[in-house]
Amino acid sequence: MKYYVNKESDKRGDHEVHKEICFWLPDPNNRIALGECANAHEAVRKAKEYYSTADGCYHCCPEAHTH
Ligand SMILES: [Zn+2]
Repeated sequence: MKYYVNKESDKRGDHEVHKEICFWLPDPNNRIALGECANAHEAVRKAKEYYSTADGCYHCCPEAHTH
């Protein structure tokens, strides 16, 4: 599965990580591709290289959603 992180933070300052199939996936110019990841935890680890406040999407990455 391919994952992406939103370039824009949400109200809390979190950068949400999404699967490519998520309804809430940002537009192509508003996301960074994280590539193929085995699971959401790996995707969030990669996203934290860009944004320390990366967090899994509540809808598509609940196992990596912490807040
Ligand atoms: Zn999502």
